[in-house]
Amino acid sequence: MNYLDIPSPDERALSRAVSAFSRVVGSEHVITSDNKLAEYQDPFSFDGGKAHRPGAVLQPGSVEEVQAVVRIANEQKIPLWVISTGRNLGYGGAAPRVSGSVTVELARLNRVLEVNDEQCYALVEPGVRFFDLYQHVREHDKKVWCSVPGLGWGSVIGNSLERGFGYTAYGDHVAQQCGMEVVLPTGDVFRTGMGAITNANTWNLYKGGFGPNLEGLFQQSNLGIVTKMGLWMMPRPEVFYSVEAHVKEEGTLVALVDALRPLKLNGTIEGTLTIRSPLHIVSKLAQRKDLWKGAGAVPDEVIDKEIIPRFNVAWWNVNFGLYGAREVVEARFQVAKRALESLPGTEVIVRKYEGAEVAEDTIHVTDLHRGGIPNLTPFSAVKWRGENGGTLAFAPVSPITGRDAMKQVEIVRRYGREYGFDYYGSFNMASRSMNHVYQIFFDRDSEQDMANLREMFPKLIAECAALGYSEYRAHLGFMDTVADVFSFNHNALGEVTARLKDALDPNGILNPGKQGIWPKGMRETARPMLAAE
Ligand code: ADP
Repeated sequence: MNYLDIPSPDERALSRAVSAFSRVVGSEHVITSDNKLAEYQDPFSFDGGKAHRPGAVLQPGSVEEVQAVVRIANEQKIPLWVISTGRNLGYGGAAPRVSGSVTVELARLNRVLEVNDEQCYALVEPGVRFFDLYQHVREHDKKVWCSVPGLGWGSVIGNSLERGFGYTAYGDHVAQQCGMEVVLPTGDVFRTGMGAITNANTWNLYKGGFGPNLEGLFQQSNLGIVTKMGLWMMPRPEVFYSVEAHVKEEGTLVALVDALRPLKLNGTIEGTLTIRSPLHIVSKLAQRKDLWKGAGAVPDEVIDKEIIPRFNVAWWNVNFGLYGAREVVEARFQVAKRALESLPGTEVIVRKYEGAEVAEDTIHVTDLHRGGIPNLTPFSAVKWRGENGGTLAFAPVSPITGRDAMKQVEIVRRYGREYGFDYYGSFNMASRSMNHVYQIFFDRDSEQDMANLREMFPKLIAECAALGYSEYRAHLGFMDTVADVFSFNHNALGEVTARLKDALDPNGILNPGKQGIWPKGMRETARPMLAAE
């Protein structure tokens, strides 16, 4: 299917709806001018910005306004696209799946409603960014730590709903989520689990309730708008160790992953473990043109003989944090060190901090993420391919085994060499599986680069799917392709989600097409494959 061929709402219907929306949110919170709307497109589009263009943007200021917006969208049959802060970079940013959708930006709902350092949880609204939560914790001297993703400017809710991850022992953000308030596509509002009790006191502590837990329905979904979310926070540790291991040989990856897995599973290493390739580190220190002027991906011998020695990086660069009581952390460190040092050509380094003293100006820049401090340090890598650089992530999930890691590297590097994209990869182990994030950097001034990307990506998806891997998250333009990988029993999973979609969103107004889930009216146009079955 050509993902550009989805019908947009017609202009007359859109302008009627915009007048009605303005009466609810105030015209100063409605954006319709082309130059302002451009800020809500994908900043790294790889189709010249043709697809995924919003028709207007609304910025409601309360849950009641969100409900009213949803009701108008139902009356006028206008598709909405909900964002919190719209920083979903590498996956489409703020842009909608269907052009002409009205983007509902929740940045004005930005209250930290509670940070409780007795029970260690927070309750936040969608506009609360990791920077805001961190600042709140510092200002109120709360004895908890945040877990922050690569870039701290996004929202806590948006990141958790998209199954983003951070780097402390609480790095599996979906696992830390507890308690939601949701506006349904019909405009009704409800609270999940214990939150449905009047005067609830365990809404953000107990994930269950009485009956099915519905929260999973609103993760990566188009079944509701999350207006409040609870998340568990890590008690401020007595000490924090930031551990690095430098593994010299590329081929040691298999032994490395197999040595780390038991430490992850038995709880020796609670923090998210990361293994990064050389360019992952070097791209923040230099631009590609200063290191390699030839065509195609930077060749292995240039990485081996020039880049690695010049920047003093290893082939595989391991990082993880250890947190807790002094004696416990020291013992865990010794166990992890012993396992890592048994690998050939591996050096272990540790930086030890008192938990209470960790702050942006007291710790090594490499340790910011593991120290729970939001920052933007990885962002400079976007310019790796030039000033007008773009990026897209291919992020398949696999078991934590050395052979899976090697297979993944072999596949993405083979395609990278064929299509001219460098290997900038990281393996991230927050829980029982491993996310291999192959961050593809491209030059937005190069038509060839963008055409290569469009051709390569579906092939990567298909080859990985044949081996049982799928991405955990996908760019707007590839959501259908990834959804099709989940094909057991004639796409039964998609069939069930479609039934839920039709029941909860009868007019199909909320985020149509997100994760390949289309409402009734659009399924035939948007998903000819499904219609044919
Ligand atoms: P961030 O705030 O981290 O930048 P975004 O606002 O870009 O994240 O959101 C990422 C995706 O998550 C959106 O495209 C949307 O599909 C979903 N999303 C974000 N916020 C909400 C929300 N409050 N309710 C439902 N879905 C949301």
